[in-house]
Amino acid sequence: MNISTAHRLGTPDVMRRYPVIVGEATIIGYVSRWHRTWDAETSNGVHRVGRPPKGQAGDAWAARWLAEEYAEGRIVPIAARSAELDAVYGPAPLLDSRLPDTPTNRQRAMEVWALLAAYAWTPRGGYPGSDNLMLLRCDLCGALVARFWSKLRGRNGNPPSPGARHTGCLDAAEVRRRVPAYGPAS
Ligand SMILES: [Zn+2]
Repeated sequence: MNISTAHRLGTPDVMRRYPVIVGEATIIGYVSRWHRTWDAETSNGVHRVGRPPKGQAGDAWAARWLAEEYAEGRIVPIAARSAELDAVYGPAPLLDSRLPDTPTNRQRAMEVWALLAAYAWTPRGGYPGSDNLMLLRCDLCGALVARFWSKLRGRNGNPPSPGARHTGCLDAAEVRRRVPAYGPAS
């Protein structure tokens, strides 16, 4: 099945990473070239899309793959990030410097980060434990916010409420539409 989703390529950054955009400005991933092969950065990590068929532009071809993944609900939007910004700020560290660097804390931080990604958040600081503020970027609207993990996770095995992301975010129905992890409205 070939699902087509309206999408477009944005302006590439200094490393020639093209954002793939749906709607007004929602980035669902980046495509870039490595020799003749095209790669896609997604909420699920980096995926090797491959070589485009002869005569097809690789950027548009790789972008189409990303749009299909998005349409199928296998990926969620990701935070806007450019090679320029990464060069200045670097990726966030795994642990807050005040949290003891133990195997248990590292394991916990990895689990929390995987869940944050599923709910369309990108950590902008190290994991501080569940009851301290953590700096996050909202992948849906780009806002930089400080939230407690204990307030972001759901309760009793249920997903969190999509209306409780942060003040000024998209409305709950739109959040649910874009982030499959929230599940259907009850
Ligand atoms: Zn938001």
